[in-house]
Amino acid sequence: MASPPSDSTDGALPERLARAIALAGPIPVSQFMAAANAHYYATRDPFGSAGDFVTAPEISQMFGELVGAALADGWARAGGGAAHYVELGPGRGTLAIDALRVMARAGLSPAVHLIETSPVLRAAQRERLPQAEWHNTLDSLPADGPLLIVANEFFDALPVRQIVRAADGWRERRVACQDVLFLPVVGGDTLDAIIPETLRDAAPGSVVETSPAAVAAMRVLARRVAAQGGMMLAIDYGYDGPAVGDTLQAVHAHGYANPFEAPGERDLTAHVDFGTLAAAARAEGAVTHGPVAQGGWLTALGIEARARALAAAHRDRGAEIEAARVRLTAPRQMGTLFKVLAVVAPHWPVPAGFAA
Ligand code: SAH
Repeated sequence: MASPPSDSTDGALPERLARAIALAGPIPVSQFMAAANAHYYATRDPFGSAGDFVTAPEISQMFGELVGAALADGWARAGGGAAHYVELGPGRGTLAIDALRVMARAGLSPAVHLIETSPVLRAAQRERLPQAEWHNTLDSLPADGPLLIVANEFFDALPVRQIVRAADGWRERRVACQDVLFLPVVGGDTLDAIIPETLRDAAPGSVVETSPAAVAAMRVLARRVAAQGGMMLAIDYGYDGPAVGDTLQAVHAHGYANPFEAPGERDLTAHVDFGTLAAAARAEGAVTHGPVAQGGWLTALGIEARARALAAAHRDRGAEIEAARVRLTAPRQMGTLFKVLAVVAPHWPVPAGFAA
């Protein structure tokens, strides 16, 4: 992964960013977002009702269980054997715990590899997944055997560049600093050449986002999957781009906040351009399926039956289990905005939940 700036240099993050901007001028949105998120994740556990946001695996064990079932199914139909479980940005490790439990029942006990930059979250993961091995970069992932890769709400945390249509062409959006306030400004460099032709005539003020870090990560992983066998499930809120749209947002205490305020104290995210990520994966020789909507995918994998079985086993939790199922699948909740992209080796079967 792109290594975030070290947090050990002197001064709080806003002061350091202000100093960098004073010295060299406004910085690209991507640089601001990378520094803000590195600090944010390095200094807290953001999940849960007391934190800033709740993710699907923290809503219900059903989510990780169905991810595990989909991986075990693909693995079994590809012939089984030794395999590696790889998770990007595993948070508290909840998804991995639920997925590995289901995989074990299917006879699959993969080695566990986690990609995580935050020392706070690494410590939380170590408590629950003592068998895991942590990696600082994707390059050190094992080169032998199929990789079963999961990324839930990982790609949305990677920095995006924002390119803005100005009156006379496309320019990088940068972050300036006025006294203690950070604010977006339009940079001087003309970037028309990197805007897809279909979008180039968009109205002034339009924004196109690109995530070089996300594309680079996808390329490495897709190349590995194509060469070693395996499959990857990338789950996130996003769209089938490239497209016009400013999706940079800050999430704080379960609400939206100004992304340029209080860098490092809020989770900065951008919607994931699944179309571009899928094209990058195919360019590396992998096969892609989707993206499909999370709600339909979970339903195809059997979330309704799983909810019924869970409710039967925990009679006092029936309403809570049904509410979680609805939250994960309903179009107005997480069912449609969240999407699932599968990246598989050419000789692997179409994963469960995707049309053949
Ligand atoms: N997948 C978890 C957590 C999602 S939050 C869940 O669904 O609950 C994003 C996760 O990605 C956190 O664990 C965060 O620390 C990690 N992360 C963010 N940027 C990263 C980077 N550049 N490299 C590795 N991990 C990163």
